[in-house]
Amino acid sequence: MNIADNINKYLKEIGDRNCKLVAISKTKPVDMIRNAYDSGQRIFGENKVQELADKYPQLPNDIQWHMVGHLQSNKVKYIAPFVHLIHSVDSIKLLKEIEKQAAKHDRIIFCLLQVHIAEEETKFGLTEEGLCQVLDEVVKSGFEHVKINGLMGMATYTPNDEQIRREFRYLKDLLDTVSLKYQYGSIDLAELSIGMSGDYKIAMEEGSTMIRIGTGVFGARH
Ligand SMILES: *Cc1c(COP(=O)(O)O)cnc(C)c1O
Repeated sequence: MNIADNINKYLKEIGDRNCKLVAISKTKPVDMIRNAYDSGQRIFGENKVQELADKYPQLPNDIQWHMVGHLQSNKVKYIAPFVHLIHSVDSIKLLKEIEKQAAKHDRIIFCLLQVHIAEEETKFGLTEEGLCQVLDEVVKSGFEHVKINGLMGMATYTPNDEQIRREFRYLKDLLDTVSLKYQYGSIDLAELSIGMSGDYKIAMEEGSTMIRIGTGVFGARH
């Protein structure tokens, strides 16, 4: 398995679409990440705070680090000095903490709001109503150190492609609706983070602007 070849395969499939490849490096050692880096990849995502904070200082500082996993408010401080984009914002409480910690470091942290689109109860995310509450709060609070850049979702883990497509399409429609309704300084809902190794093709067809690929780039996790 060759990481550079894998990355090039995805870049070729993306072609001239407005879509970025986020290489999900969770559980993989830093030498594999460096290998991907050396082939030109600059956007990496992790799903655990501890692992992200451990890897960050060992790797080149022009990497754009994304947090894609569920994030607890009390752990934001460990990644606030360097994280670029948090895909998994799912509460006002979390957003307030991100604002506070970003301000401390005089930074802007970009955020996506995670929406629950899957059938499974186990997956995190806001309801449509919860999403609007968070956006209303952002408008009211006038956060200066967070920017809301779009939505993220995870489809149901199922072999049923039509169901996956339906869930992605629901999120894209929701993005189109809220992006018209919420146009405000710190809200610019342009990004749609959908698609993983098993469903990225459907996600790209449904308007993904960020595919989050782990296994397909780095191989299976143990
Ligand atoms: C692990 C993970 C991915 C990547 O999953 P693969 O199936 O390995 O591509 C994408 N998004 C999130 C939130 C993840 O936790």
